[in-house]
Amino acid sequence: MKIPFNNPVPVGNEEENIKIALQSGHLSGDGAFTKKCHTLLEETLGVPKVLLTTSCTHALEMMAILLDIWEGDEVIIPDFTFVSTVNAFVLRGAHPVFVDIRPDTLNLDESKLEEAITPRTKAIVPVHYAGVGCEMDAIMGIAQHHKIPVLEDNAHALFAKYKGKYMGTFGSMAAQSFHETKNFSCGEGGALLINDHKLVERAEIVREKGTNRSRFFRGQVDKYTWVDIGSSYLPSDILAGVLYAQLEEREKIQAYRKTLWETYHFALKDWAEKENIQLPTVPEHTEQAYHMFYILLPNLDARQKFIAYLREHDIHSVFHYLPLHLSDMGIRLGGRPDDFPITEDVSNRLVRLPFSYGLSSSEQEQVIDSVLRFKVL
Ligand SMILES: *Cc1c(COP(=O)(O)O)cnc(C)c1O
Repeated sequence: MKIPFNNPVPVGNEEENIKIALQSGHLSGDGAFTKKCHTLLEETLGVPKVLLTTSCTHALEMMAILLDIWEGDEVIIPDFTFVSTVNAFVLRGAHPVFVDIRPDTLNLDESKLEEAITPRTKAIVPVHYAGVGCEMDAIMGIAQHHKIPVLEDNAHALFAKYKGKYMGTFGSMAAQSFHETKNFSCGEGGALLINDHKLVERAEIVREKGTNRSRFFRGQVDKYTWVDIGSSYLPSDILAGVLYAQLEEREKIQAYRKTLWETYHFALKDWAEKENIQLPTVPEHTEQAYHMFYILLPNLDARQKFIAYLREHDIHSVFHYLPLHLSDMGIRLGGRPDDFPITEDVSNRLVRLPFSYGLSSSEQEQVIDSVLRFKVL
C-alpha cells in the first residue's frame, strides 16, 4: 500500500550509534548506550530506576515476578488492551479480572474498579490508551485504600502527563515499549520503570537470569551466583544505541507527532460531526503522548467499509484490540458476550489512521482528502 499505517524511519544518530556499539567491544546488554538510555529516562521522568528490557512484554513479565504473583492471585486489567498486559500475569498462574473502559478516553473505567477488587487482588494494571493518561487520582486513591500495587502499562504514553505528572511515575512500576510501532523505537525493546525503591535490587537480579551479576560488577559482592528466579531480559547494546538516538530526538519526534495529530483533528472535525463519527477525547488535565489518531465510526459495518474504502485509495488504516474476554483464551477463562459492553462496542467501531514520524505532510494531506470524501450512508 502506498501510504502505510506505520513507517519507522531513522531520526538522527541511529546508524552512527550502531557503528560505535559494534566497535566498542561490548555488544551484550548494559553497555554504554544502555546506561545512557537509563540515565536519560531516569532524569527526564524523575524515576529512581529504569532498566531497559527486550520488550514491554518482558517488562510486564518482570513486574509479575517481582510482585510474586502466583496461582490463585487476581490481577485487574482493562478489557481493551494488548494481550501482553494480561498474558504476563496469566503466565505466573494469575486469574485476570477484566474491567470495562470509559466511552470517552477508552481507558479503564475507574468507577468500575472498586467492584472488581477481592481479597485475592494482587495488582491493578491501567493502560494509558493512545497515550492519554487514565484517571490516576481515582485509581491511586482506590489502590492505596485497598493497599494494592498499581502497575502501569505505559507502552503508549511515554512523556505524557496527568495533572502535570509523567505517566509511568504513578504506579510502583511501569512498562515501556520500544517496538517499531511506538513513538520511540529500536525495532523490539522495552523498559521497566521502578518507582518503589524496595523492588530495585531484586529487579536487577530477575533481569540477569536470577543472578547477582549487577552487584558483582559494582563490587558489592565477591561472587556472582544464582540467587533467585529470573530470565534474560537485557537488550543488546547495539539496540540501545538505536533507541538512544531516538530518545535524544524526543522533542523533535513529539513535536512532529503533535502536528500530525492536530492536523487530523482540525481537518476532520466538521466531517466527523456531520457523519456521526467520534474523534478522540483528551481531557484538559492530561497532556497526551500523541501515540495514535483513531476515529470511531457509528457501527461495525461502517468501520469495515471505511477500511476497505481507504485500501482502495492505497491507504492502510487498521482496527485495534479485540475484547480480551471474547478472545479464545478469554472465553476459556469464562468470558461471555455483553460482559463489557463499552469495549465490545468500541472494538467494533474504532479505526486508526496512518500515524508515524515517517508519514510526510503530503501523505497526510492525501489521507485527509480521501477521508473527507467518505460518507457513512
Ligand atoms: C505494544 C504494546 C505492548 C507490547 O509491547 P512489546 O514491546 O511489543 O512487547 C504491551 N502493551 C501495550 C498497551 C502495547 O501497545
